[in-house]
Amino acid sequence: MERDIYDEDQDAFRDVVKEFVARYATNEKREQWDADGEIDRPTMLAAGEAGLIGLSVPEELGGAGMLQDYRFRAVVTEETIRAGAGSLAGALGIQDDLAVPYLAHFGTPEQQQKWLPRMATGEVLGALAMTEPGAGSDLRGARTTAKKVDGGYLVNGAKTFISSGKTADLVVTFVKTGEGDKANDFSLILLENGMAGFDHGKKLNKMGFHGHDTAELSFDDVFVPDENLIGGEAGHGFVQLMRNLPLERLSVGVAAAAASQAALEWTLEYTTSREAFGQPIVDFQNTRFRLADVATTVDVLWAYIDRAMLLYKEARLTPEEAAKVKFWSTEREWEILDTCVQLHGGYGYITEYPIARAFLDARVHRIYAGTNEIMREIVARQVTGRR
Ligand SMILES: Cc1cc2nc3c(=O)[nH]c(=O)nc-3n(C[C@H](O)[C@H](O)[C@H](O)COP(=O)(O)OP(=O)(O)OC[C@H]3O[C@@H](n4cnc5c(N)ncnc54)[C@H](O)[C@@H]3O)c2cc1C
Repeated sequence: MERDIYDEDQDAFRDVVKEFVARYATNEKREQWDADGEIDRPTMLAAGEAGLIGLSVPEELGGAGMLQDYRFRAVVTEETIRAGAGSLAGALGIQDDLAVPYLAHFGTPEQQQKWLPRMATGEVLGALAMTEPGAGSDLRGARTTAKKVDGGYLVNGAKTFISSGKTADLVVTFVKTGEGDKANDFSLILLENGMAGFDHGKKLNKMGFHGHDTAELSFDDVFVPDENLIGGEAGHGFVQLMRNLPLERLSVGVAAAAASQAALEWTLEYTTSREAFGQPIVDFQNTRFRLADVATTVDVLWAYIDRAMLLYKEARLTPEEAAKVKFWSTEREWEILDTCVQLHGGYGYITEYPIARAFLDARVHRIYAGTNEIMREIVARQVTGRR
């Protein structure tokens, strides 16, 4: 089904992204990222130069000023995933969907001036650290503290599973500034690479997204100046997270649809060229019917995701709608990728093939940005009116 969400601006931007991807997301580069467990900095700087990151940074601070218009970001995700570079898609997404928005939405003018221009160029890479070894879904259980001291805060604790955690220069960190576990006991504070007592810990070995770093972080009496408290006032961390989580969930929905679309394209190509019993496997009725199912689901996915992007653009995508988008799209993605792996036969299991890598990458889509069980909880509360 033809999509009509994009206009000539996104079409022109798609050409830029395609050019970037052809140049930087080569098989050789991807293998290097996978071996290193991270995207190299020159590639991230080149992405900044080409305008692939910093899309949500205000124009006067060097970005594209697309804080509410997710369509440009979607184009980046679609084209990087189509090129089989899921890890690059992930690294670009962390910068623009998880790090920049906290400063663009809630940062003081000084914080925005200080960080956003360099985040738009890729000179400063960001991350968002909420999850702790003992608290993931239940964020009120977070134990990383920021105790007020003269001129700033002393931060102690640990975070885990932090995407871009090893490579980030600036980490938006969820900390407890109050004594209890009420919403206003939490804040977001900027931890800078190189601060004494801030350790980026070890890179975690993952099932997928091998070329994008995920790390443990630890904080041992890290002195963080007052000026690094996002928004300049303690107690707003929970509200700030809640405000941005729909974007994070929409971004996962877009990635799920993009991977499903790419899987369909790869599988069509593969099944047309592969023969068994004297005919291309695309001509077996099972293959044809499976592909018909996949193509239809991809259409429905895009119709839903595109609608969500437009609602987001008008600041009307509610947390419940974003939760529906996240769990439903990632579950369709999982079914589609499994079907497409099957249609590739043994080659579907070999990571040289993009379908195998996309399958491994997709598994975490049902876990991060809030597990799909938590997404259903959010929706169920609204549907039933009961907590
Ligand atoms: C590759 C990767 C990258 C990540 N990147 C980041 C990042 O950049 N920043 C960040 O802060 N975090 C990140 N995370 C963490 C991720 O968001 C958490 O893993 C996720 O929210 C789940 O938390 P948990 O692992 O503690 O699981 P738990 O909360 O312990 O959940 C375990 C299981 O219990 C279920 N469960 C929990 N509570 C309920 C409930 N009320 N009802 C029903 N079921 C429930 C969960 O759904 C899950 O199935 C990342 C994780 C991974 C794997």
